[in-house]
Amino acid sequence: MNRLETVAVHAGKEDLVRLGVHAVPIDLSSTYPVRDLDEGTASLDALVAGEGSAANSIYARLHNPTVARCERAIAELEKAEACVAYASGMAALTAVLLAAQSRGRHVLVVRPIYGTSDHLLASGLLGMEAEFVLAEDVQTSLRPDTALVIIETPANPTVDLVDIRAVVADAGSVPVLVDSTFATPVLQNPLALGATYVMHSATKFLGGHGDVVAGVICCADELAKPLRTMRAATGSILHPFAAYLLHRGLATLALRVERAQANAIELAQRLAAHAAVGKVFYPGLGTVRNAELCRSQMRGPGSLMAFEVRDGREAAARVMQHVSLITPAVSLGSVDTLIQHPAGLTHRVVDPETQARTGITAGLMRLSVGIEHVEDVWVDLEQALAATATAKLPRAA
Ligand SMILES: *Cc1c(COP(=O)(O)O)cnc(C)c1O
Repeated sequence: MNRLETVAVHAGKEDLVRLGVHAVPIDLSSTYPVRDLDEGTASLDALVAGEGSAANSIYARLHNPTVARCERAIAELEKAEACVAYASGMAALTAVLLAAQSRGRHVLVVRPIYGTSDHLLASGLLGMEAEFVLAEDVQTSLRPDTALVIIETPANPTVDLVDIRAVVADAGSVPVLVDSTFATPVLQNPLALGATYVMHSATKFLGGHGDVVAGVICCADELAKPLRTMRAATGSILHPFAAYLLHRGLATLALRVERAQANAIELAQRLAAHAAVGKVFYPGLGTVRNAELCRSQMRGPGSLMAFEVRDGREAAARVMQHVSLITPAVSLGSVDTLIQHPAGLTHRVVDPETQARTGITAGLMRLSVGIEHVEDVWVDLEQALAATATAKLPRAA
């Protein structure tokens, strides 16, 4: 069994030498010729039933070879039997929720989670009844119609850690979905800890270059079938060109995650000592429980952190205005460092009371550290933070 760094480079490419090519081919067909009708019908039946492959792809909403190749690679990285790729992380979550309705309509969700995931669940848009609970209350909140337990760890945007093993144990026979976007398969494998589904917004680290929107679910083969059926029915399959870019990004995943993490460890310490900065939230820092969980279920703290600027929203706005190397933007997990203001942007759709309860304060900023030289990122952060101090000087009348 090859190690992760090797898998990242080679997975999903086993047939390239036989094909006589070096780069992954892109198949952009929207339809596939059917000369043999019996074979066509059998392929259609298999794909609609959620099989991962068939003799004929029939139609690109059902199956695409470039997408399937990328799925094989991500499944191997996540040590999963199967991976199903969608047009976005939200499309992936939607498919799991729709597929879960055969078990019931009640979903337990541990906050905080990604803003739009929170909104999708809280709004009841998909006909599910989401109940938001603390991780320690999962067991007592289970109902006969509980179809799914959803956690995100590290969680967005406060990088809180949730004990995956404990939630899985408490959930009993109810499937547990872990949004592992922040960790990537490099730092955490929730399936090995007992989770049923692992979700990634592949828009983030897996793609890694800020040019792909994609989502994946990794799970057992049998569970992937209803997800593929749902994907075909609702039309949420990943586009093959996006799958190509995503697969291309995977080759450097381990390198990127390690470099960004080394930068982040350094920046977290410097930020914590900075006069304009209050609390810094970073896995492994802060509480003993956080440090313990970081050791027991992750292979490193990653490159996402949040910190509070002392003067609230106005100071945060100044930082976004003044960064020059760092990109002031939502999203994360790109090669470049990104900074954003959760209360004003990513978590704007979460109601203010929940924001307050889950630590999304007016001065909270989320930093996704990239792979630049750490000193260059620090110089930029320092000058942007200095602008917040300047803002406090008396203004000319
Ligand atoms: C971005 C993100 C999502 C949503 O993914 P999209 O690809 O934007 O649809 C879900 N969960 C987390 C943790 C994310 O960061």
